[in-house]
Amino acid sequence: MRTFTGDHLLVATHNQGKLEEIAHLLEPYGISVSSAKDHNLPEPEETGTTFVENARIKAHAAAQATGLPALADDSGIEIDALDGAPGVYTADWAETPQGRDFVMAMTRTYDELEAKSAPHPRRARFCCTLVLAWPDGHDEVFPGVMEGEIVWPMRGDQGHGYDPIFQPKGHTQTFGEMDRWEKNRISHRADAFRKLVTVFDR
Ligand code: IMP
Repeated sequence: MRTFTGDHLLVATHNQGKLEEIAHLLEPYGISVSSAKDHNLPEPEETGTTFVENARIKAHAAAQATGLPALADDSGIEIDALDGAPGVYTADWAETPQGRDFVMAMTRTYDELEAKSAPHPRRARFCCTLVLAWPDGHDEVFPGVMEGEIVWPMRGDQGHGYDPIFQPKGHTQTFGEMDRWEKNRISHRADAFRKLVTVFDR
């Protein structure tokens, strides 16, 4: 595995929330961050059919455009009874002309499971894949996973996205009911980050 020896990373996202979360995680390693937006980079089309492909597209596009090592992530939820859907289309299920509507996306998820009479527990997993790409074309991939099940009705108003219908394995609360600290300790993103930090030469 290639070691990262620098002190600055370009985070290939236009999402301010994601940037702040990643900046916070990298701070203890003495690594500062800038975003794709800071560099006026266009958002590449996410044409991949897997989280790894989409994270690679974003990381390499940013590294090539700037000559800087770049970190990208792609995430979503896979539901076994829906053959892995929504998967890489997790955010798309929430799209409306007025912006993202996750109550609509969660309702669609429940309706599709009911239409299939999917048995309980309705197994699912949140996935987060981080890709660190260098300008010479090399990359390292760090997949993170949290197993759990889809529950209904929605529970909790913490977090974001599909959190209110995802109950992680071994827990009685949904991600939506957990405080941020608890979720960030066990989440798919935390799992991927634990792997990422092993490449920092510190
Ligand atoms: P992207 O990684 O920005 O393409 O978006 C992935 C989508 O997956 C987000 O818009 C959320 O809907 C969903 N997602 C990813 N991680 C989480 C999470 O921790 N909780 C709830 N939803 C999530």
